[in-house]
Amino acid sequence: SIDVDWLDAWDVEDGSAQARALFTEVFDAAPEGVWSAPGRGNLIGEHTDYNGGLVLPFALPHRTYAAITRRTDRTVRLVSAQEAGTVVTVDLDTVAPGTVTGWAAYVVGVAWALEQAGATLGGFDVAITSCVPYGAGLSSSAALEGSVAIGLDALYGLGHGADDAGRQHLVAACIRAENEIAGAPTGGMDQAAALRSQEGHALLLDCRSLEVRQIPFDLASDGLALLVIDTRAPHALVDGQYAARRDTCEAAAAVLGVETLREVTDLDAALATLAAPGALDASGQDPEVTARRVKHVVSEIARVGEVVALLDSGRTSEVGAVLSAAHASLRDDYEVSCHELDVAVDAAVHAGALGGRMIGGGFGGSAIALVRVEDAEQVAGEIAAAFESEGLTAPGFLVAVAGGPAA
Ligand code: ADP
Ligand code: MG
Repeated sequence: SIDVDWLDAWDVEDGSAQARALFTEVFDAAPEGVWSAPGRGNLIGEHTDYNGGLVLPFALPHRTYAAITRRTDRTVRLVSAQEAGTVVTVDLDTVAPGTVTGWAAYVVGVAWALEQAGATLGGFDVAITSCVPYGAGLSSSAALEGSVAIGLDALYGLGHGADDAGRQHLVAACIRAENEIAGAPTGGMDQAAALRSQEGHALLLDCRSLEVRQIPFDLASDGLALLVIDTRAPHALVDGQYAARRDTCEAAAAVLGVETLREVTDLDAALATLAAPGALDASGQDPEVTARRVKHVVSEIARVGEVVALLDSGRTSEVGAVLSAAHASLRDDYEVSCHELDVAVDAAVHAGALGGRMIGGGFGGSAIALVRVEDAEQVAGEIAAAFESEGLTAPGFLVAVAGGPAA
């Protein structure tokens, strides 16, 4: 039988010790402290965040660790075990959109955004290490931002980490860091998951009001488990696809006279409006494609409500069918899946999973499958076998248990 590559999470003591050791080796002194933040999965609600919709992510037990010490000048020195251990140096006063390249942008971007919002910080030395699968659609970027944000918050006594309202402020800084300094578009779900999640819960986030509700999420008590599959698919030719989806949604919202697609309450009426002759002419969007994009977003927001209702009423196993419906919608209507993601989901369901779907932006990254606890190994094995017989890179697997937020 085939080898299954399980991507185990480090326990917090071990991850902290590794970050502390890297810091001491590189900067010749012990750090003032070590902070960490989780990667995330997303149970349901994909490509809904930038449409003002609902999402239901949860923190993974996999975390990024940041060992940090303040400096008396405005210099930031950074090192990451995942980036060859090479020290990068940035002057905080030079940080602005477009001035920082590479992974350092995610870190100094957080400091920049906190200062833009009124904080007075100084330079710092930081050593990073992480067991969050890298660039796998499990939000290693927001885990990195969150670990630095919560660390700077503590070191500079900003006080935002103390409660959920303050954490929203840190989320906003992380979003600005990623959008404006790293230059990567992001809808905000990942940063909220990293900073506002609670252990044992999924985070129902309303991306319009930014209100959250903690949804108890303990699949094991129902004999179920959530398998996460890192497809390790190379992200090829996807540049611009995310921006194109956002543009189409914005164009549709403009024609419908609403701020975001969240406002669409009658899908059929909206589709009729969009299909009227000439309705989309000014935007240059294709009517048939736009209709399918809108259908995905509106139906996906409804599916978040369905999953929350199922979890609330203990009908957990029925979540599987909703996941599979979401996958079909993402594949056929939103067109953001890819061969590896489809193979993962199809093989999971074939092997007895109750349902599954791609998660994250798409075109690669990860998928999830809802399985009975006793089937997890078997389903993972059959997915790995399907990848092998298709000649694909072996995927990685983890069983998601909802972890805690940045701390
Ligand atoms: P993901 O789905 O993992 O968030 P992204 O492309 O959004 O994928 O973010 C991955 C990028 O974030 C990496 O290319 C790197 O620039 C940065 N990053 C994430 N984790 C680390 C880390 N541990 N050390 C250094 N950079 C990191
Ligand atoms: Mg990311």
